[in-house]
Amino acid sequence: MHKVFHFASPRERYKCDAAVVWCYDHRFELALRKLLKRIGVMRSDPIRIAGGAKCLAAPDKESDRQFVLEQLRWSMQLHGTDTVLLMLHTDCGAYGGLAAFGNDAAKELQNHTAHLQRAAIALKSAIPELTVKTYFVDFEGVWELGAGGLPTTGSPAARSKK
Ligand SMILES: [Zn+2]
Repeated sequence: MHKVFHFASPRERYKCDAAVVWCYDHRFELALRKLLKRIGVMRSDPIRIAGGAKCLAAPDKESDRQFVLEQLRWSMQLHGTDTVLLMLHTDCGAYGGLAAFGNDAAKELQNHTAHLQRAAIALKSAIPELTVKTYFVDFEGVWELGAGGLPTTGSPAARSKK
């Protein structure tokens, strides 16, 4: 083994501001970083898997959902995590991309809004003490679902109706 470079990483334990259940699609990497900065999440525990919050809403296997719940419990135990951001993005390969929705962004949004709601309900019922926030990311920005998981004014859904 040889040292690639020297870098002093912090040794102290930290309090995690939010765990993030999110896809690893690199097109939205900068949007994620900007979101975290905007909402004041300095220290996050990212749980990155294809499809992100899809694993809680509509997992391919029930064991996928259990695995992610377990990771969240570890994050709570190790880093005092009390908030989770559940995220989905447009044109996600785990859903078959936008093509799976006939290239109809409004149709995709409708599905993803429902999935974010379903994921939040599944998470809250498994770990009730968590605060859960839900976000949808597209090529124009990041959208937070409002009360009851409904898109707020100015959301892609509202725009597409115009
Ligand atoms: Zn994805």
